[in-house]
Amino acid sequence: MSVIVRDVTKKYRLRRKQFKTAVQGITFSIPDGEITGFVGPNGAGKSTTIKMLTGILTPDSGDISINGFRYPGDRRKILCKVGIVFGQKSVLCWDIPVLDTLKLFKDMYGVSDAVYKENMRLFTDILGLDEFIGQPPRLLSLGQRMKADLAASLLYNPDILFLDEPTIGIDVLSKERIRNFILAVNRERHTTVILTTHDVSDLEALCERMLIIDKGTLLYDGSLSSLKERYRTTNLEDIIKQIYLNGLSGDSRHPGTAGHPGAAGHPGAAGLSGEAGLSGEAGRSEQ
Ligand code: ADP
Repeated sequence: MSVIVRDVTKKYRLRRKQFKTAVQGITFSIPDGEITGFVGPNGAGKSTTIKMLTGILTPDSGDISINGFRYPGDRRKILCKVGIVFGQKSVLCWDIPVLDTLKLFKDMYGVSDAVYKENMRLFTDILGLDEFIGQPPRLLSLGQRMKADLAASLLYNPDILFLDEPTIGIDVLSKERIRNFILAVNRERHTTVILTTHDVSDLEALCERMLIIDKGTLLYDGSLSSLKERYRTTNLEDIIKQIYLNGLSGDSRHPGTAGHPGAAGHPGAAGLSGEAGLSGEAGRSEQ
């Protein structure tokens, strides 16, 4: 599922005639099946952009198209094909076992028994969901809660997944499990992933491409490798720090995104052999 954002601006009204521009004329597109890191300092406009992409906020101007569909008219069609995970918020019912929430999602999204069964097997094999599926989220650790949220957002086989800080506050082992899961879903289902994170190791492990935003304006839209070439270092954290402090070095603001190999060419995409794959006849939604 591709995402096209054209010249989108969003202002918040502070007082009667006082406005704060959160996003200013941003334009980008994300092709089907790509994992893109969406990065920027606090207050840069990331959440505002994600909220517009997920239909929570309406742009003041510009155009957003998700696989050719637009809000508000196609809202239902879009949201059936989109999974959203906010690291700081949960879609799970706090007091009931995770399994019951997943069953609720199954009914809400009209997931067939075959898809449900296949996905539950996958969530168990790669995320270890069976270890805590009988417990309510209020009794879970942060990492367990995040895995349960990922399961809920992927139960209905969305084509696009928005992840906002999915590994924040999570231990290294759980982080690795979550990243492997995201890579496997992307590789085998061709799920498009837009990942907002401050964690450079998430970007290194998952993304071929990055969008960098600051003060509501897009500063960089291109591959991680061209960014490293441009700054002549492999230290992504240093590069990001420099960009936040001094803006993007060089003349061209948009060095281009040609030649992204996508997840198939991702170095981290390998190495899941022996774990459950995502293919199989129940591998796609029947919606
Ligand atoms: P980020 O997610 O990158 O931290 P946000 O999109 O949350 O950035 O915010 C972008 C800008 O918009 C910031 O200056 C922030 O203070 C402002 N902003 C965000 N939400 C609101 C709101 N509801 N009302 C007024 N200003 C807001």
